[in-house]
Amino acid sequence: MSRTRRAFEAKFRLLLQQCGARRLEQGMDWLVIRAEALAHRQQTPLARALTHVYRETLRRVSRTPGGRVARLWRAAIQPPPASLVTFQCDAGLGGLARWLRATGYEADWMADISDEELLRRGRRDGVVVVTTDSLLLDGRALRDREVLVVWVPPTLKPLEQLALVLDELGLEVKSPRCMKCGGALCPVKKEAVQERIPPRTAKWLDDYFVCERCGQLFWHGTHWRRIQAELEGISS
Ligand SMILES: [Zn+2]
Repeated sequence: MSRTRRAFEAKFRLLLQQCGARRLEQGMDWLVIRAEALAHRQQTPLARALTHVYRETLRRVSRTPGGRVARLWRAAIQPPPASLVTFQCDAGLGGLARWLRATGYEADWMADISDEELLRRGRRDGVVVVTTDSLLLDGRALRDREVLVVWVPPTLKPLEQLALVLDELGLEVKSPRCMKCGGALCPVKKEAVQERIPPRTAKWLDDYFVCERCGQLFWHGTHWRRIQAELEGISS
């Protein structure tokens, strides 16, 4: 059995457990079979179909009476309030870290971070660890509920991974942060940054922002609109 499938089985089991389902194994099998049928019908990779069925089930559960998404974590670990959620992404998730920042969340990423360091940061700083390594789910830190770890399939595109993470923690898309470093974007007077604006952009735009951390200049141009359209697309 593939690691992806096994990791999803663990996710489905936890989900069903937390909604009080009685026949856990049958329920889990049924969801996996549903995903396999979907993958076959749509000629799509199994990881994508499993993600679709998982997100659909999460949404259905959160609509049941009293079934807020936060409740799903009752048996795992309580996530921090949305305003305080920050992420530590594993080495393979640089693309996801950028998109998490675009949705308004702080997300740290290092090219060569080890599993031990990921978990250490999760424990020390209370950050949500996002990983593609399903073996991490078997660790002691998770069993002891010390760290909140969200596993995402490595084969998904960063935007698909983002949708899964937001659904899993019940998070909304917020005002964007700097995609490069995660710093807050502060409005700045056009005159103060005039020499940094491409002349063609300066002709039609008046609102500009500077990253408080790295100083990068941003504006709501065509690139920005493309990002917004992509983000709106992930909630479907
Ligand atoms: Zn920045």
